[in-house]
Amino acid sequence: MIQYQNEHLTVFQSELFQTTSTVVQTKEMVLIVDPNWLSNEVKAIQDYVHTIKGDRDTYLLFTHGDFDHIIGYQAFPDAKTIGSFGLQNHPKKEHKLQLIREFDAKNYIVRNYPIEFPKLDIVIHEDGQQLCLGDTIMTFYQAPGHTADGLITIIEPLGVMIPGDYLSDFELPFIYQSAKAYSQTLDKIKSMFDAHSIHLLVPGHGQATAESGEMKRRVDMASDYLNRLCQAVLTNNEHALDALSKEHAFLSTFTEACHKENVSIIRSEYC
Ligand SMILES: [Zn+2]
Repeated sequence: MIQYQNEHLTVFQSELFQTTSTVVQTKEMVLIVDPNWLSNEVKAIQDYVHTIKGDRDTYLLFTHGDFDHIIGYQAFPDAKTIGSFGLQNHPKKEHKLQLIREFDAKNYIVRNYPIEFPKLDIVIHEDGQQLCLGDTIMTFYQAPGHTADGLITIIEPLGVMIPGDYLSDFELPFIYQSAKAYSQTLDKIKSMFDAHSIHLLVPGHGQATAESGEMKRRVDMASDYLNRLCQAVLTNNEHALDALSKEHAFLSTFTEACHKENVSIIRSEYC
């Protein structure tokens, strides 16, 4: 379904995990971000891009290599792909593909395209690296913490920020890589808000927002949660840890496992 739409941008939202797929169109190009999850949902994005594309080039941006975000790669075989150096050198490519195959097999899903790990045409090596297409400027920042290969993209002059799996309206931080790096990425995001004027934030999971107060609330929510979680781990406060595990939205064995992973990463980094 379409969650948000304006003249330049359409945000599709999957039924699964409120995962977003963003399509941005400018005079020069059509950019597709993380097309996902289900076959009919990816097909709807394919159809939409086919309808609007005209003779513009298409670009396919990956925010990171988690399997839900790369699942639609080969649905757009003509697009020029963009991702981080970390994604290009992902240490567990075959494992990610196995997760997609397992997901499709378990749910009897048939796709009209093959499953492959993204091969990148444009590799982002450093913070502030830019891609200019006519009047459109994309600025990229490394965003480790959730995963090592995270990439945040700012599209100007539209003022769109695409942070991947940061700054959800409801999902608390899932630290799959490093709590320290996660906090540094949140600090980096604050300086991006100072350096760029952001008019729309589209997270990987949850609602897009055009409100600067809401963008700030999301940074504060993530920082506050991480600080309290670190504190609880360092003081071995079981009661506080239990309460923190219940702050996740949509409580399930999945959120419980993510909480345990968060705690174990913090323990290994700080204790
Ligand atoms: Zn995700």
